Amino acid sequence: MKKTKIIATIGPASKDEDTLRKMILGGMDVVRLNLTHADHAFCKNIISKIKKLNEELDRHVAILLDTQGPDIRVGTIAKDSAKLTKGDKIRIYKNEVLGDRTKFSLNDPAVVDEVLVGARVLIDDGKVELKVVDKDKGYLLCEVKNEGYIASKKSVNICGSPRVRPFLSEKDIEDIKFANQVDADFLAVSFVSSYDDILEVNDLLISMGNDHIGLIAKIETEKSVQKIDNIIEECDGIMVARGDLGVEMPLEKIPGIQKKIINKCIDKGKVCIVATELLASMEVKIRPTRAEVSDVANAVIDGVDSVMLSGETAMGQYPILAVETMKKIIKTAEANINYTALLEKGKRSEVPDIVGLIAYSVADCSNRLSAKAVMVTTASGTTARKLSRFRPLSPIFALSPNIVTVKSLALHFGVIPILVKELNQFDKITKMAIDVAKERLTLETGDKILITGGYPFKENSPTNFMKIEEI
Ligand code: PEP
Repeated sequence: MKKTKIIATIGPASKDEDTLRKMILGGMDVVRLNLTHADHAFCKNIISKIKKLNEELDRHVAILLDTQGPDIRVGTIAKDSAKLTKGDKIRIYKNEVLGDRTKFSLNDPAVVDEVLVGARVLIDDGKVELKVVDKDKGYLLCEVKNEGYIASKKSVNICGSPRVRPFLSEKDIEDIKFANQVDADFLAVSFVSSYDDILEVNDLLISMGNDHIGLIAKIETEKSVQKIDNIIEECDGIMVARGDLGVEMPLEKIPGIQKKIINKCIDKGKVCIVATELLASMEVKIRPTRAEVSDVANAVIDGVDSVMLSGETAMGQYPILAVETMKKIIKTAEANINYTALLEKGKRSEVPDIVGLIAYSVADCSNRLSAKAVMVTTASGTTARKLSRFRPLSPIFALSPNIVTVKSLALHFGVIPILVKELNQFDKITKMAIDVAKERLTLETGDKILITGGYPFKENSPTNFMKIEEI
């Protein structure tokens, strides 16, 4: 049983029902739909297939929608691409123009107004760099810093200019409304650069009456790395979005930033996702490289909650094999996690209230007794989240009659969410927990399991019991 969760991006390569079924059976816990590429019709189709498969396979695979964010793209280039030579001058016009080697425009004209002289303009994931050397009302004059091509719709990252445009574009607002309408479980918010950006998304969701979607802040700009301590407070989790982050920042800085963010998430009890190019070569090959296997394993050993597949499953030739390979690497790497250190790390940063102390004690006892499972009864998911944060060695079965709670636990390390009919009467709750453990695990006489939760069972009733059962 693996504990680190797998998120897989769904695209043309993985959209059919049988592939999705095999990906779920292979270890996929969460489906990601990237709204930069997937339209609402595509998303609805996948969401309904996942609902059907969840029923068929008795799973709770969750849905994560990923916004485009204030994404800047190259406008249309004649013959689709143009070659630029180092030292050339090129203008970025505010008004739409048909681009060539001397000029082009962007999908959002407002960008031209906010960019400052001296800023760097990185095109196509940083393959071409321009420097803004002058500015006029209608255009930016840039110098080409290296030879390369610009092509229609390629990504544009601007470094060295604060964003003045509103954080949420019209498209993002429509996409967030859509996420609410389809009752997505998680919303990954792209290009967050401050605490206020997350508040803006939260306010919009609250205005729609949605207080339960899990908000994941994507850290993919230098500014968001600087502001991580504020951003982390306002969201449910963080995604280390190494694709865009690696365009804006020197690549050699990414591993250190990733480790720091994983640590901060464990300290704050927030979910941490590591994303992008984990098994990139599997887009076209049946085996990952040794470096990719090490990359996944290191994230797992450092204590990440979830790892994410992008192109590998959305566009690649082997979406099912990519998930199965990820699972195999995770299971092996988990044997190398220093669970004791993570437990003590959790203890140092946990608020010593009753819930925190019980969660710590359950995880500690579970490890000392080599318990086979921790069973948690949970209304809102709080107890399960607290426990996950202490990274016990045994799996955490989270029993809840609330489907929103069950889905909300899909990204958390070690948590296996289970929907149950009802939870009342203490002896019935403990019997149900033991029955579920027996059903899911091969238990032998003398094996121990821990049971915890809040009693009487209701929303907002805090964790107040811990029970050790010997089979
Ligand atoms: C990334 O940049 O790493 C990322 C996950 O975001 P996107 O796939 O939306 O570019």
